[in-house]
Amino acid sequence: MSLTLPLQSSYLDTLPERFYTQQPATPVSAPRLIAFNHALARDLGLDTSGMTDQEAANLFSGNDNPATARPFAQVYAGHQFGGFSHQLGDGRALHLGELDSPLGRVDIQLKGSGPTPYSRMGDGRAWLGPVLREYLMSCAMQALDIPTTKALCAVATGDPVLREQGPLPGAILTRVAASHIREGTFQYFAARGDTEGLQALTDYTIARHAPDAKGPADLLQKVMENQAYLVAKWMSVGFIHGVMNTDNVTISGETIDYGPCAFMDHYHPDTVFSSIDHQGRYAYSNQPPITHWNLAQFATALVPIMPDQDAAIEDFTAIINRFPTLFAAEWTRAFAPKLGLQPNETASTLAQDLLTEMAKAKADFTNTFNALDITDDLFPDWHARWRAAAPDDALWRKTNPAVIPRTHQIEAVIQAATAGDEAPFHDMLAAVSAPFTANPDYQSPPKETEKVHQTFCGT
Ligand code: AMP
Ligand code: MG
Ligand code: MG
Repeated sequence: MSLTLPLQSSYLDTLPERFYTQQPATPVSAPRLIAFNHALARDLGLDTSGMTDQEAANLFSGNDNPATARPFAQVYAGHQFGGFSHQLGDGRALHLGELDSPLGRVDIQLKGSGPTPYSRMGDGRAWLGPVLREYLMSCAMQALDIPTTKALCAVATGDPVLREQGPLPGAILTRVAASHIREGTFQYFAARGDTEGLQALTDYTIARHAPDAKGPADLLQKVMENQAYLVAKWMSVGFIHGVMNTDNVTISGETIDYGPCAFMDHYHPDTVFSSIDHQGRYAYSNQPPITHWNLAQFATALVPIMPDQDAAIEDFTAIINRFPTLFAAEWTRAFAPKLGLQPNETASTLAQDLLTEMAKAKADFTNTFNALDITDDLFPDWHARWRAAAPDDALWRKTNPAVIPRTHQIEAVIQAATAGDEAPFHDMLAAVSAPFTANPDYQSPPKETEKVHQTFCGT
């Protein structure tokens, strides 16, 4: 017996046809299961006991269509590096449908499943490297208790994908998300003056993500809170998203799009990895102001459905202006336990001062927090002030991860897998899925020769 997926499609049933394109996945030659997230399947209430690896591969490559699936690609727009793109969309992804699960209602999406009307110049495919990177990164995020889209399955397609480097093995990732509605989804309809579409999207989004919201202003407030919480969490683990375009910002507050992202090794606030981010727009320390800017674009997109637009602009501006204060509070809440302290002024100042010291000393982000007791040698003045604040040692020890997915190790895993050896991937996956368990194989920053200076878009 294969897996039963009781899927629904409220997106198709509720929203007009101009929101999506219905089409099947493009078949692949030889689907082979690379990884299946049994823990996530259990959390989703799926019974996978009778499912063979080949059945999973056929299903999550799109070759076999579950009876309940009505596959479709979503359309959206977005500000990419500050410039507005009127039409983006799922260029290489298809929604199979929604699952009502113990985690709430989730979208099940295939990424790398073939071209759609939104593919532009792309081939609609993904290669093995970005699929494994997203799998590792999103499992790490989940284990760190940071909101994220989740990886259910990775399948090799058996078909080569042509990239700059030459032909590479193709793969498909199955992604699970509270939804794939983005700030850019709103911008798509706003930019077209399609107020009817915008109203339908707002109603749908409120029902799905902010059922207590009385209108667009409450939705904006909720999205702002989700984003402030999320980005403060990213900051607290040294995560750099790398491509915070408005089409990569979810309404649900889940991390999405693990393209050119990375966890920092040695700390510096200006750190950028993305090969396409020449200006450092999405550098580590720019993530909070960019989140604010993106929220302003989202607010702007909501204005056309407001009966009194001048009043709405004033109202929304007042909401958005509270972001810096809200973020500062979330930042302190995220960093204080890392120092074993309660979230207050002292904790905030100590955290900021520690980061300043770390930048000067080029200290490793993760390892410094994970071994705060030895900052006695590195930063004796700071250490004395921290001790004077009477930290709870058990608290910071359990808050700070020992293991994060380090970029140089991800690259090594991808190289091995591309050459046919997937064992290092599975080994690293186990390590990053238990981030609070010491694991010396995954705790060292890169040696000079192992350093990766740039990461590439998830193509
Ligand atoms: P991203 O920069 O990953 O957020 O992607 C931006 C847009 O490009 C999205 O609309 C994607 O669906 C699309 N895209 C990225 N890679 C491909 C690909 N290989 N084929 C088709 N569309 C793609
Ligand atoms: Mg994207
Ligand atoms: Mg991407």
